[in-house]
Amino acid sequence: MYEHFLLKLGEIVLKGQNRWQFENKLKQNVNRRMRPFGDFRVNIIQSTVFVEPQSEDCDLDGAWEACHYIFGVVALCRCRACNKDLDAIFAAVQEYLDDDLLSAQSFKVESKRADKRFPLNSIQISQEIGGRIAEAYPHLKVDVHHPGYTVNVEIRDQYAYVHGPAEPGAGGLPTGVGGRAMVLLSGGIDSPVAAHMMAKRGVEIECVHFFSYPYTSELAKDKVIELARLITKYCGRMTLNIVGFTEIQEAIRDNCPEEYFTLIMRRFMMEISERIARDHGCGCIVTGENLGQVASQTMEAMAVTSAAVNLPVFTPLIGMDKEEIVTRARQIGTMETSILPYEDCCTVFTPRHPRTKPTLEQVLRAEHKLDRQALIARALENTELMKVRYHG
Ligand code: ATP
Ligand code: MG
Repeated sequence: MYEHFLLKLGEIVLKGQNRWQFENKLKQNVNRRMRPFGDFRVNIIQSTVFVEPQSEDCDLDGAWEACHYIFGVVALCRCRACNKDLDAIFAAVQEYLDDDLLSAQSFKVESKRADKRFPLNSIQISQEIGGRIAEAYPHLKVDVHHPGYTVNVEIRDQYAYVHGPAEPGAGGLPTGVGGRAMVLLSGGIDSPVAAHMMAKRGVEIECVHFFSYPYTSELAKDKVIELARLITKYCGRMTLNIVGFTEIQEAIRDNCPEEYFTLIMRRFMMEISERIARDHGCGCIVTGENLGQVASQTMEAMAVTSAAVNLPVFTPLIGMDKEEIVTRARQIGTMETSILPYEDCCTVFTPRHPRTKPTLEQVLRAEHKLDRQALIARALENTELMKVRYHG
């Protein structure tokens, strides 16, 4: 019989009335994520997603790997399915977990009887299978408190399942249950982490990137495309909007006081992002801003930049330390790409003495010579829309 995967649901189980919506979304997501790996059947029963290959040629290793990145799943088990009788269960243990049992020193059996029609209760199942294991593997000690290895037996509706320890899942909520967000994606460490954190809460992600050729190179743009691609591992395919920003940056340089350059530039980024966000059905704007990290991320500066838009601006990294952000970036696999040394447009024309405590009034005065709406309209015309897919 094939191997099956059991994915355990996380927070979804706490949802009341609309739990079925969360489950339906998760089922759709799992189905879609399994598609590249062959024909799988996906069902949700009793807080567990059952993923069952339907043919010999399914890529089980690829599918198993992909399951680790599906939001809404807290733990996952790769199991051997077998008939619901003790002989078949023990045969499955011996065949499927043999290597693990040979290398362990102590063990216990943990059983779960979801199908209450099964004649033995969970304690009796553990005793029976545990006894047989102890006999077949005489080097193993039974240790119910601190076992070196735990054999799991689950009696479900259709089959019994045998597996070793569960692995941690991606957690969070299923992608798509929490609306859609427009993430400002730079080439840095922070914004990919911010995108991941929002995606983890069930939000569909779309990104916007500003680049200023020739001040920033094609390589900087490629780096951002690669970062977007890395995030799709968690959130599925995404749209990346790439906005030519050179004209706006030059207009700021030529018409505004230097100490406000960054703030004015960021207000443009916000407004352009909001326009695209509304067109594409996004309900918020997300940035990788982090309180106190740089001059443009003081409370006062952030008040001025978010005043450029009406959509809510979410900043999931706001209270984290840099070290915590870096740890996350490593965990999600974006760090190595983020530290490639290509310049972002934020570092072009940076003021020597940026304002850290601006007021909105001062900034409005500083940008008054610019024809904001004409500049924004041209930048929007100059926007390239890319579909980013994950290729493994
Ligand atoms: P990051 O590591 O994300 O680049 P940072 O600390 O370098 O963050 P800034 O460069 O000031 O911070 O940018 C703050 C936020 O503004 C970024 O996290 C990102 O959300 C957005 N941002 C900055 N530059 C760009 C850009 N070129 N395109 C899109 N968004 C940007
Ligand atoms: Mg940056």
